Amino acid sequence: MKTLLFSTLVIALSSLAFISTESNSDDHNHADEHLYNEMKHSRTDTVPTFPYQKTEAEWKEILSSSQYRILRKKGTEIPYINEYFDYKGDGIYVCAGCGQHLFDSKHKYKSGTGWPSYWKPIDDSLVVELEDRSFFMVRTEIVCSNCGGHIGHVFDDGPQPTGLRYCMNSTAMKFVPRDEITETSSN
Ligand SMILES: [Zn+2]
Repeated sequence: MKTLLFSTLVIALSSLAFISTESNSDDHNHADEHLYNEMKHSRTDTVPTFPYQKTEAEWKEILSSSQYRILRKKGTEIPYINEYFDYKGDGIYVCAGCGQHLFDSKHKYKSGTGWPSYWKPIDDSLVVELEDRSFFMVRTEIVCSNCGGHIGHVFDDGPQPTGLRYCMNSTAMKFVPRDEITETSSN
């Protein structure tokens, strides 16, 4: 529990740090770029090539600035001030970058962290786990297996039957009501 609280605090502080740099776009980009490079170097060599590819310019065109910061630059949104942390609609959550189905509301639970949390993805093949050594922690990052977009992290303090907590960013996903789900629920 202490680790969870510590992680939450660090992530919350890092979110605030991002916000404070947003007043100056040059500094912001520089800080993000620096963080991104740090993370890139700390990963293992097994980062896959994702099938859904766009150039940086295309991503910036498609995504809002906050979606881009989280999905493409591995940012974290602020807990409790995001769209889905307490949302209880019946349906699925798809990747805001490429529309791939990721999580089902049936597997969503109240974690108390202020971020939408699930105990499993719809299918394990829909996400890829990567090692993340940023912020003086070793965490397991979750990215979309189709476009490689950063969605959140997975921890081992979730509820049964998996014992896992997929701690996601609302901004990285879009909710699709159950009766509107299509094979490629895209943006
Ligand atoms: Zn995606």
